[in-house]
Amino acid sequence: MVDYQTFLQIIHPLGLPTISPAAFERFTVYAQMLCEKNKVMNLTAIRDEDEVFVRHFADSLAVYAARKEIPGRLIDVGCGAGFPGLPLKILFDDLRGDGETKLTLLDATRKKIDFLAGVSKALSLKNVTPIAGRAEDLAALPAHRERYDWAVSRAVADLRVLAEISLPFVRVGGQFVPHKSDRSDEEIDAARGGIAKLGGRLVDQYVYTIAPDAPSSRVLTIAKHAATPKEFPRAYARIKARPLS
Ligand code: SAH
Repeated sequence: MVDYQTFLQIIHPLGLPTISPAAFERFTVYAQMLCEKNKVMNLTAIRDEDEVFVRHFADSLAVYAARKEIPGRLIDVGCGAGFPGLPLKILFDDLRGDGETKLTLLDATRKKIDFLAGVSKALSLKNVTPIAGRAEDLAALPAHRERYDWAVSRAVADLRVLAEISLPFVRVGGQFVPHKSDRSDEEIDAARGGIAKLGGRLVDQYVYTIAPDAPSSRVLTIAKHAATPKEFPRAYARIKARPLS
């Protein structure tokens, strides 16, 4: 079992502000619910509770280490079991002390979204909206299009595909802040043209390592400087068959 001091050590390389015992308690309950549910449903390949703290929680918090800002509204595109969105929400609530950051958790799989609704309730988190749906459908709706300060996303798709389904959610002046592996130079270069067509530009790459045995990873910052043309996102089959470049 990871205790409070151990968790502070795990996140130490990220240089975050101190996390309170109350926030740590939320992480603990989340880890327990995740491991419990994982026995009956395939939520994540990481089954060990200690590993959850490193590879899911600390890894998710790298977004804050990269940006050092707190958005008012954020959407996690393809959140799976909640990463990186939910750990960020726990951190932001702790830092702000008011629960006012609005988090939308989006995933195509209903059972994952149902799990996240249960976790949000158990943790008494305010302003969390779990939605079961496809990003390319939701991004066309006025209630969601260009309505978010940030979009985040980890391990969902190639950056060319990911940018097309994520950047439409971000308001002009906002940011798309996806995780990518540290071996993604070619993937990033191939996506630059498409990102520009969507109104974005890569402005920062934050490289980090959380565990000594883990490969380093990175968090990209793609700033949105212009509205995304109405034609995007296209239908998913088209996006996949002819990724923007
Ligand atoms: N972000 C999580 C989960 C990664 S697995 C993590 O890092 O652990 C990828 C998830 O993306 C899956 O749960 C899948 O259902 C979801 N996904 C893939 N394409 C999607 C789309 N177009 N719209 C919504 N969810 C999508």
